[in-house]
Order: sequence, then structure tokens, then C-alpha cells
Amino acid sequence: MTYTPTIGLEVHAELKTMSKMFCGCKNDPHEGEANAYICPVCLAHPGTLPVPNEQAIEMVLLFGQAVGATVAEYSEFDRKNYFYPDIPKAYQISQYAYPFLSGGELKGVALTRVHLEEDTARSQHDKGEGSLVDFNRAGVPLMELVTEPVIHDAKTAGDFARELQLLLRTLGVSDANMERGEMRVEANISVSKEAGKFGTKVEVKNLNSFKSVEAAIAFEIDRQIKVLENGGVVTQETRGWDENKNKTFTQRSKETAKDYRYFPDPDIPKIQTTSHSAFSAVRLAEKMPKLPNEKRLDYRNLGLTSEQVEVIISHPEADQFFATLVTADVCTGDIARLAGNYLTSDVLSLLQSGEYNLSDLDPVHFLELMTLLQENKLNSRVAKDLLPNLFGSSIGPLTIAEDRGLLQVSDIAALQTTIDEIVAEQAAIVAEYKAGKEAALQFLVGQGMKKTKGAANPAMLKEMLEKAMK
Ligand SMILES: [Zn+2]
Repeated sequence: MTYTPTIGLEVHAELKTMSKMFCGCKNDPHEGEANAYICPVCLAHPGTLPVPNEQAIEMVLLFGQAVGATVAEYSEFDRKNYFYPDIPKAYQISQYAYPFLSGGELKGVALTRVHLEEDTARSQHDKGEGSLVDFNRAGVPLMELVTEPVIHDAKTAGDFARELQLLLRTLGVSDANMERGEMRVEANISVSKEAGKFGTKVEVKNLNSFKSVEAAIAFEIDRQIKVLENGGVVTQETRGWDENKNKTFTQRSKETAKDYRYFPDPDIPKIQTTSHSAFSAVRLAEKMPKLPNEKRLDYRNLGLTSEQVEVIISHPEADQFFATLVTADVCTGDIARLAGNYLTSDVLSLLQSGEYNLSDLDPVHFLELMTLLQENKLNSRVAKDLLPNLFGSSIGPLTIAEDRGLLQVSDIAALQTTIDEIVAEQAAIVAEYKAGKEAALQFLVGQGMKKTKGAANPAMLKEMLEKAMK
């Protein structure tokens, strides 16, 4: 009998609001100076009152509209009670019974709920004697998303997390960089032999990259099966992921909701979500950018391959550049395909060299280059050579090519002089060709390309050479 793994994900994403979740402090959890952005509210001084951040709620609702979630008519914040040095109130303001969103779907994975809460402060244990706490992150808005337990393998979980990151970035609500802790994934994993019945679930934390998400899930599925096969019992617990040892390890036994003694925060009024004008579906729709799936469809319709589409939409700069290109009337058919091709290969490799910025490339010039290629006025080698010259240039590729004599010569009269020269200069090679050595022709074509600085149309050069040597 085989085991069926079941995985549900919990993802926290730091929202990029101007200020923190319940106070006016600047939202900058990466500030290097400790405790630069703190106030009595996020330090939990007695008598202070939290005020919910409208921008944070709006971001969650925008996300909800993008994934087709149901917005709660009524929502409230709860206190999640626990003691830890990084949680100064001894409770976290979170949401329990009435989250902002329920349902929805992303990359085929059904969502359970999405709620809003505040991030904790950061403990530092490596700064000399004792431990220190930096409260810059305390109170930063966190969106928590919970999926249904409908994932059955590590790869699907990883793909979901990647798509979520792309969506959060597209919506502009979070940078969602996992290495920087802006997006944190936890996986609930169980295995079971019995259809329709879940095994004991184990929660795995500290997953700081997509690679860790996939590796930890694969490890944990394997570990649980081995435990059961050896006649053991899987313990319900929270486990961490050790990236270096490539294994999960026991952290603590899992708390249950009962342990946290959730109750509605008496300091925060209930939120009548749908009747608040800033949160109306129409207002949100006005703020909705083009979503990844819409872009995929549009770019595929332009003739780009799915690999090219994924490269473009996951690269914000390239995506923005391509979006500008496609607004031009000429960017259809062959030109759109050429543009997709050059952007995802030659342009991106120039950007990766670190010496070029896409903002220095004029989309009009780039499209002119694509048009010259498509019309056979430039051959692809010359186009590749010209491309770097377009960055920061006020002169278009046609003018540059004309000035340097790089336009592809398809003019018979102009090429005939070159052909005559080659035949005269390379008598020995011509003789070899005439004696039946086919490779000699390629050498002569190469000479022609050299003489015209790569500007000749090679097919035409070959044809004319053959004719001249008959
Ligand atoms: Zn504050």
C-alpha cells in the first residue's frame, strides 16, 4: 500500500504600506539602525490605542479580488495571547473568527482564508552578552494566507509559493523576498494510507527559499512514512528546517488555538468591510493591475513561447519594458516575436552583465531594430552587435547602421564588386571549389561577409559566388 501525502501551506507576507499596522511609525523592517521606528503604540505602553491601517486592509482586499476570494462583510481583530520577548503586549493583534477573506484560488490551489495581523519584533542573540530586541519590525502589517490541505507533492507547493510571490509583487503589496523574510512559508504535512483520512500533521517552519520549501516537504514526507513503516507514531509538533543538514528537526509541540485564548480586541472597532467606500469592489477594480495570468494569455497570443512569457513576467523591468513595446502599433506578428526573443536572450544577458540598464534603452529604438531585422535590412549578427550601442543613445539603429555601413547589402550591383574581388584574390580556393570541394564555398562566403563588415545578405552572397564560379 502506498501513502498519500497531504500538504497545506501557511504563508506570511509583509505588506509594503507607508506606516505600520496600528501606529504611524514608518514601515521599514530592514532599517539597519535598531529601534529607529518605534512609538508608544508599537512598544505597547499602557494606555495606548491601536488604529488599523486602511492601506493594509485595502492591500489584502485587492489580493482577495485577484484570487476570487469572498470579502467578509464584517471583520474584526483578535488578541492572540502568548508571551515572548519579541511581542511586547504579550499578545499579537491578529484575526481569528472573522478574517477579511475566505475562499479563492491560486494556481489550482484552493485558499481557506486570508487575514491581517502584526509582525513581531526581532530578537538578536549574537550581539555580546544577553539578548537584544529591535522593534523596527514590531507592528509591520503581515498578511497571512492559509491554503486548503489539497497539495500532494513538494513541487506543487513550490510552484504555488512562486506564483504567490509573483502575484504579491504584481499587485505591489509586498516585495515577498523569501531570503529577506518578507514572505515566510510554513507547511503542514501529513501522510496517510487510508483514502479520505488525514494522518497526524506536522508543521515545518524556517523555510527561507523556494528550494527549502520543496526540500523540507520532500524530506518530511519521507520521514513520516519511515516512522509509520517502522511501527512508530508521528507526533503532532512544530519542526524546523536545517538548510545545511537538509533535514527537519523537532522545535516544540504544536500549540492549539485554545492555548492562545483568542478574543476580540476591545480597543479596535469592528470593521464593516463591504460598506466602507474605500474598500468597494469597484474602487479595488480601478486599482487592479494586469495580473500574471492575463499577461500570460496576451503574450502567448503575440506568439511568444511560454518560457519567454515566464521570463518576462517574472522580471519586473523586462515586463514593464515589454508592456510598453506592445502598445506600439508595429509590435505585432514577426516583430512582436522578435522583440520577445531578443528581450529574453540578448537584452537580459546585457542586463545581467551589470553594465546596462533597461531604462537607458529607448523602446522606439528597440522596435526599430526589430523592424530592420524583420525587413532583412540587418542580419542577426549585426543586430546583436548593434544592440549594446542603443543603450543611452539618442540616435536610432537605422542611422547608426547607415553611418557605419552595416545595413545588409542585398543590392546585386553593390555585391558584384565584392564578388569580383574575392574571385580574383582567392584563385587557389576558387580552384578547389571548382575541383569539387564544397567547403571552399563557405570560406568564400565568409570572405564576403568580412569585406562587407557583416552587412551582406549571406544567402545572396552564396548564390552570386556560385554563379561567378561556374
Ligand atoms: Zn509605532
